[in-house]
Amino acid sequence: MMDREELITILGAPLGDLATDRELFAEAVEVRNRTVGDKVYLRGLIELSNRCRKNCLYCGIRSGNKGVDRYELTDEQVLAATEYAWRSGYGSVVIQAGERTDDAFTDRIELLVRQIKSLSNNELGITLSLGEQEREVYRRWFRAGAHRYLLRIEASSPKLYAKIHPADHSQKKRLDCLGFLKEEGYQVGTGVMIGLPYQTVGNLADDLLFFKTLDIDMCGMGPYIEYPGTPLSGVRSIFTRDERLQLALRMIALLRLLMPDINIASTTALHALHPRGRELGIAAGANVMMPNLTPAAVRGNYKLYDNKPLQDMDLRGFNVALENAWGDSHHFASRLSKARASTERRK
Ligand code: SAH
Ligand code: SF4
Repeated sequence: MMDREELITILGAPLGDLATDRELFAEAVEVRNRTVGDKVYLRGLIELSNRCRKNCLYCGIRSGNKGVDRYELTDEQVLAATEYAWRSGYGSVVIQAGERTDDAFTDRIELLVRQIKSLSNNELGITLSLGEQEREVYRRWFRAGAHRYLLRIEASSPKLYAKIHPADHSQKKRLDCLGFLKEEGYQVGTGVMIGLPYQTVGNLADDLLFFKTLDIDMCGMGPYIEYPGTPLSGVRSIFTRDERLQLALRMIALLRLLMPDINIASTTALHALHPRGRELGIAAGANVMMPNLTPAAVRGNYKLYDNKPLQDMDLRGFNVALENAWGDSHHFASRLSKARASTERRK
C-alpha cells in the first residue's frame, strides 16, 4: 500500500506533469472496472432547503449570510422529483439540506423517507445528507428506509478543521456522528474539500489515510471554491483553481487505488471549475454522479460556492447504469459479511 510520503509525492507533483497523471488515472480506471465495474451510477440530488443553523466559514448558505433568499421545498416538490428519478430509472436519490435539528424538521424527514419508499414500491434507494444529528434521529430515519448517509469531515486535520469553522463547531462531534451512522447500519460516505486556505498536500495525504482508517463505504470530495463575502473567501489558498481541479482528480485516483471497492462521486464542484469536470472525475476513477433534480425555480438559492452550475447535466457519453440498480457500495457488502462472520465466530 502507498504510504504518506508516496501520496505526498504524487499529490505534490507539478501541474504540468500530465504523463504521470495519465498513468495514475488509467491505473485507477483499470482498478475500478475490475472491482466495481465500468458503469456510472446516478443519484438524483434534491436540495431540500438552504436553511442552516450552522455558520461554516466557507459556505454560501451559512446562517451568517443575510443576503440569502431562504427556501424550503414542499412535500409535493420533493415527491415529484423523486418520482421523476424513479421513472427515469435512477437507483436512488440524495436528499441534502442545510442543518436543522428541530423536531418539526426531523419528523418531516422521517415522513418523507416513508413516502418516497412507498411511492417507489420500495425500489428507490435513499441517501440523506442532513448534517449532524442525534443518534436517535439517525436511527429513526434509517428505520423509515434511508440506507446511506453523506457527512463530509471537511478536513481530517483537527487544526485545519478549527481554522475553517467557528469556535463552537466541533470536529469531534462530527466524528462521533460518523460512528453513530455506521453503528446504526448506514452505508457511510464522507469527504473533504480540496484546495482550502491553510491546507497543504500533507493534509490531503492524511485525508486519504483517514478515509482508509475509517473504512468508509463512499466518498464525495471536490475542490473548494470561494463564495464571495464569506469569512474564508478573504484568505488565500496556496492552490490556484487549476491546481485544485488537478488535485481533486489525483485525490479521486489515489483513493480508488487505496480503497478499490468503494463508491466515489464525481462532484458538482469539479464541474464548476471545468466544463467537463465531471467527465474528468469519472476518467480518474470515480463511479457515481449526482444530477441535480431540485426544481429550477429555487436551484439558484442553494449556492454553497460561487459559479455553481445550474443547468441540467448532459448524460450522453456516460456509461450510466439505469436499471433501478441501487449501486450499493461493494465495500459495504464485504464489510457486512465480515461482521457477520465474526459474530458467528463469537457465538
Ligand atoms: N449541511 C450539510 C449538507 C450540505 S453542505 C453538511 O454540511 O453536511 C454539503 C457540502 O458542501 C459540505 O459538506 C461542504 O463540503 C460543501 N461546501 C460548502 N461550501 C463549499 C465551498 N465554498 N466550496 C466547495 N464545497 C463547499
Ligand atoms: Fe450549513 Fe452545511 Fe453550509 Fe456548514 S456546509 S453552513 S452545515 S450547509
